[in-house]
Amino acid sequence: MATEGFEAESLERASFEYAAHPARVLFGSGTASRVGDEVRRLGGTRVLLLAGHSVSAAVEHLCSTLGPLLAARFDGAAMHTPVEVTEKALGVLREAQADCLVALGGGSTTGLSKALALRTDLPQIILPTTYAGSEVTPVLGETSDGRKVTTSSAAVLPETVIYDVELSRGLPLGLTVTSAVNALAHAVEALYSPQANPIIDSLALDAIARTARALPLIAGGDTGPASGGSGGFDPRADLLRAAWFAGTCLGGAGMGLHHKLCHVLGGSFGLPHAETHTVILPHAMAYNAPAALQAMRRIAEALGVEDAPSGLFDLIASVGGPTSLQALGLAETDLPHAAQLVAAQSYPNPRELTVSGIESLLRDAWHGLRPAPSSLRGVADSGPASAMPDSSSLTEQVVASFDHAPDPRVRQLITSLVWHLHAFAVENELTQGEWQHAIDFLTRTGQICSDTRQELVLLSDTLGVSSVVDLLANSRTPGATPSAVLGPFYVEGPPETQQGADISGGLPGIPLWTDVRVLGAQDRPLGGAIVDVWQSNQDGFYDVQLPDLDGPVLRARFRTDEEGRLRFWSILPSPYPIPDDGPVGAMLAAVGRHPYRAPHLHFMISAPGHRRLVTQLFVAGGEYLDSDTVFGVKEALIVDFAERHGPTPDGREVAGAWRSVEFTFRLAPDAS
Ligand code: NAD
Repeated sequence: MATEGFEAESLERASFEYAAHPARVLFGSGTASRVGDEVRRLGGTRVLLLAGHSVSAAVEHLCSTLGPLLAARFDGAAMHTPVEVTEKALGVLREAQADCLVALGGGSTTGLSKALALRTDLPQIILPTTYAGSEVTPVLGETSDGRKVTTSSAAVLPETVIYDVELSRGLPLGLTVTSAVNALAHAVEALYSPQANPIIDSLALDAIARTARALPLIAGGDTGPASGGSGGFDPRADLLRAAWFAGTCLGGAGMGLHHKLCHVLGGSFGLPHAETHTVILPHAMAYNAPAALQAMRRIAEALGVEDAPSGLFDLIASVGGPTSLQALGLAETDLPHAAQLVAAQSYPNPRELTVSGIESLLRDAWHGLRPAPSSLRGVADSGPASAMPDSSSLTEQVVASFDHAPDPRVRQLITSLVWHLHAFAVENELTQGEWQHAIDFLTRTGQICSDTRQELVLLSDTLGVSSVVDLLANSRTPGATPSAVLGPFYVEGPPETQQGADISGGLPGIPLWTDVRVLGAQDRPLGGAIVDVWQSNQDGFYDVQLPDLDGPVLRARFRTDEEGRLRFWSILPSPYPIPDDGPVGAMLAAVGRHPYRAPHLHFMISAPGHRRLVTQLFVAGGEYLDSDTVFGVKEALIVDFAERHGPTPDGREVAGAWRSVEFTFRLAPDAS
C-alpha cells in the first residue's frame, strides 16, 4: 500500500470520524467490591464467574462479594480463545442457568467472556488483571483447528468494565512489562492508522506517556503511593489507565504491520502473545518510521526520548523485558516463511510491505538488535518540502546484505558501521571531492605504517577512539587504577631487568627513582607480577624513533617482589610530539591542534587472576596535561614526581637534584 494516504497525518486532523463504543467504566482502587451492585443493575441474578488460579486471592474476595449471586465458576480460559474451551464453558453456563457473566483475569479470560457473550447475548462485567486492553474492544480472536479467526462485533463488548488497580498490583514484573508493551502497541499503531482522529490521538499519547512513566518505577520496586517513591502518583494506576486508553485505541482504529506480525508469529509459530508484542514493537516502528514521521515524533515526545523506536527498545531493555525472538523460541529458519505470510495479504500500513524488508525486520528482532535511531537510517523529519534525496532504502539494502552473516556480533558491528557512515554522509551532505579526500587520507595513513610506525593507531588515538574503547573495556571496576591508552610505542618482549636497575642506558636527563606497589583484590600485595615499563627520553623520543641508538633503552620488564613492590631508576619523562610528519600530523595542523603529549611513564602490569592493567603516570605540573593530544590524561593518574636532593633510597650517588615518584596500582580481579 502506498504511503501518500497516511502522510496527511497533520497534527490538527482537519476532518475525521470517531465512533465511541458504549461502556460503563468503574476505575479506582477497591472498585471490585462494587461488582454485586453492577450485577443487580444489569438485572442479573445468577452469575457465571470466569476466573483463573493466578489471581486466587482476588477470586476468593469476589466470590464472597457476589455471595448468593454466584451460580457457577469456570477457570479453564486459555490464550487465543480456543473454541473447545468456549464449548466447555458454555456447558457450565447452561447447566447453571447463568444470566450474567463476570470475568476476572487477563486477556484470555476476557476473550472467553466475549466468546460466551457472542453466543448467548448475556451481559458481561469484566475485571481486568493485566494490561491487554481487550475489555474495551469489539474484537474477538478465536482459534479453531489451529487457525485464529478474528471477529469484530458490538455484541462482544461488555456492559461494565471494573478497573480495580489492586487486581494488577501483584502482577509479576515480567508479565507487567510485556502486558504494558502489548497495550502500548495499540496506542502506537493507532497514531498512524488510516482511522486516526484527534480523540484517539489524545488517548494514545496519554497511554504512551503513562506507560513510560510507570514502567521504570515498577521495575525499581515502587509498589504504589504507599512506597513513597513515585512522587504521589500510583504507577499501577498509570498502567491500568494506559491499558484502558490503549484498548480504546485498538477498538477505534485499524492496526498495521505490528499487529499483523504478532498475529502471524502467535498464530502460525506459537509464540507467546504479550512477549512477542514486546520484542516486535520497536522493530515494527523502525520499519514504519520513514512513512510516519509525525507519529514517531509524537511518540518520542510522549516517551521522553529523542527517537521513538530505539528509545522504546531501551525502555524495554532497561526494565528487563524480552528483546529477541530467538529467546522466545523461534527458529531462525522460520524467518523467511514468517515474512512471506506477513506480506501475503495487503492491509493498511503507512509503509509499503516488502518480503525482504519484513524479513530484515524479523532478523533484527530475532537477534535482539537495537533499532538504529531514525537519524542514522536516513529517516529525516524534514517534512515533504525537503529537497534532500531519501537514502533510507539504499541504507536498508546494504544492511540487508549482512542478514546472513554467520557471526551475530560481526553482523551487528558491520550493520551499525554502515548506519553511522551513511548517516554521516547524509547529515553532512558529503561532496564527491570530500569523499575522494577521505579516501586519499586513509590510503596515505595505511601506506606510512611500518614495523616501527603505526599511523592508524595514532589516528585512532588523536580522534579519541582509543580512549573510548579503553574506557569501555577497563573502567568497570570501582577502586581499580584507571587505565590509559597503550599508545604506538609499546614493543613486545622488553628486556628482563633486575629490580633497582637503571633503564636509562646512560642517556642524559634528570634521574628518576620509581617506587610502586601492585595490589590485587582486598588490597592483597601481588608478588611476581610482570611489570613492563617504557618512556620517552628527555627530548621526548622513544628508542624506536632513534635509529642510531643501540637499544632497547628506557623500556624494561620487571617482576614485583613478595610485597608487590617494584623500584628502579630512569630519567624524568618529557612532553613530546606524536610523530607529526605524516597524515595524522597534517590532520592536526588542519584543525589547529598541537601534537604534544603530556609527560608520562607507561606501565603494563599482569598478574594471574587479575585483569591486565595498561596505564600511564603523568607528571603533576607538566605541560599539556589539559590538552594531551591523545586524550589520555585522567585526574587519578596525575602524580607528584617530587624533586629531591641529597642521599638516594638505594645509596646511589647522584650529583644535584633528582626526582622520585611513588604510586600504588590496584588491579581488578579477572571476572572471566
Ligand atoms: P493472559 O490472560 O493469558 O494472562 C497471562 C498470564 O498471566 C496467565 O498465566 C494468567 O493466569 C496470568 N495472570 C493474569 N493476571 C495476573 C495477575 N494479576 N497476577 C498474576 N498472574 C496473572 O494474557 P494477556 O496478555 O492478558 O492476554 C493475552 C490474550 O488476550 C491473547 O489471547 C490475545 O489475543 C488477547 N487479546 C485480545 C485483544 C482483543 O481486543 N481482542 C486485545 C489484547 C489481547
